[in-house]
Amino acid sequence: MSKTYRTDQPEHVVWEYSPAPESRSIVHLQSSYGLFIGGAFVEPVDGDSYRTENPATEEVLAEIAAAGLRDVDRAVEVAGRAQKTVWGPMAGAERAKYLFRIARIIQERSRELAVLESLDNGKPIRESRDVDVPLAAAHFFYYAGWADKLEHAGFGPNPAPIGVAGQVIPWNFPLMMAAWKLAPALAAGNTCVLKPATTTPLTALLLAEIIQQADLPPGVVNVLTGAGSVAGAALVAHPGIDKVAFTGSTEVGKDLQRALAGKGKHLTLELGGKAANIVFEDAALDQAIEGIVNGIFFNQGEVCCAGSRLLVQESIADTVVERLKSRLSTLRVGDPLDKNTDLGAINNADQLEKIRSLVEEGEAEGAVRWSPSCALPAHGYWFPPTLFTNVSPSQSIAREEIFGPVLSVLTFRTPEEAVAKANNTTYGLSAGVWTEKGSRILWMAQHLRAGVVWANTFNRFDPTSPFGGYRESGFGREGGRHGLAAYLDV
Ligand code: NAP
Ligand code: MG
Repeated sequence: MSKTYRTDQPEHVVWEYSPAPESRSIVHLQSSYGLFIGGAFVEPVDGDSYRTENPATEEVLAEIAAAGLRDVDRAVEVAGRAQKTVWGPMAGAERAKYLFRIARIIQERSRELAVLESLDNGKPIRESRDVDVPLAAAHFFYYAGWADKLEHAGFGPNPAPIGVAGQVIPWNFPLMMAAWKLAPALAAGNTCVLKPATTTPLTALLLAEIIQQADLPPGVVNVLTGAGSVAGAALVAHPGIDKVAFTGSTEVGKDLQRALAGKGKHLTLELGGKAANIVFEDAALDQAIEGIVNGIFFNQGEVCCAGSRLLVQESIADTVVERLKSRLSTLRVGDPLDKNTDLGAINNADQLEKIRSLVEEGEAEGAVRWSPSCALPAHGYWFPPTLFTNVSPSQSIAREEIFGPVLSVLTFRTPEEAVAKANNTTYGLSAGVWTEKGSRILWMAQHLRAGVVWANTFNRFDPTSPFGGYRESGFGREGGRHGLAAYLDV
């Protein structure tokens, strides 16, 4: 075949324009994916599979292996062997090299990971590109730095790995949750069997490929896709699992506590929340409005620490509600791969149904519902940004975790009343405080029963900082030095 070349350019120049940095064409989806066991992608023993879809279009993305009981046995067995023979005995400095390598490959493949995350989860590309993927890399970098310094971590002279960790994660931050689980466990010398959520397996599988690329010894990390009720339940109960780390609903978290009672396994739980975002009359209002919007509409509100209860001081309540309405009217809901999108799709049909029914319950209980007029796509799972006023603390929208783009506005007069209302919840994961008074920030932080209190910001995450809840939000900390404690016998 004859080619024609321009004479003023060297032959190797490719004439098409490259894809835009975050375009769909940079991901190479396979039609089907196996389980990642012992360093290789393998078929499940029973050959079961299911389909994962793009929640913004309902298009099928790929066929995913569904692990059964024998696959769980196999994965736990190879993880146990790898822990005893290779990863546990390895010098911390050597483990660190592998973790640094994973972190660097995540950075190199960050665009691919970001597009894949938005396709499978429905979140805006701006968020997967600027938050999820960089934070996943940051967690590996951070814990890589600890791997050869465990004896200086303040847990005594010879902290030892617990053994094999069974880790179950949700669909709201699929890659980031995988990084939060794997990085500290591996740094401490444990091996892992990770089960991603059914609806968002793809970035965990790409991470498995990255782990292969980083040349980790086989069996150190295993990824089992499949149903929580089958693979998840079998994994956490498996006698070869020494440590269970779970992030997800409070309901399943409680089931796990019951199922594991008396089995002698280490357990950490990161569950739901109903965070208060508290705005005082002296707050810098422009920043507070942005903080409220980010607090509840980031990731469509599908965030365990979402600021879903706005507590605003009575004197400025009308102003804040008016300003929120005009700000919400500028939010763009739609195609997750569009760089201008603020809110993407809800992750799955069940979740959309849960949001709808809680919102209807809120209306039935007398709260006033408001949304900006916005056209939602015809296919996929969508919910508009929603604001409830006239909310009383006893209503379900003020008590239950909605896990969607729905903000309930309540008011208070004094700091004491703000604390009492904020703490009037069975949860205790996070809270936000907006005020220009430093002494008030400290007082509030001491009195709010929440694992994280943000001051004049919200939804800030950093690998050096421990994250986790009080009460029904769970126990144990992820991130920071405390995150290592969850994976060490001290
Ligand atoms: P979920 O059912 O708790 O799922 C979380 C993870 O646990 C998934 O990987 C799930 O697998 C697995 N799982 C389910 N049942 C299990 C069992 N019996 N044993 C072991 N693993 C099991 O949460 P969801 O259904 O995805 O979401 C429901 C609600 O949970 C949301 O509305 C929200 O309120 C809350 N949530 C909280 C967080 C958080 O970060 N704290 C995250 C997501 C959801 P499958 O995917 O196969 O079910
Ligand atoms: Mg999906």
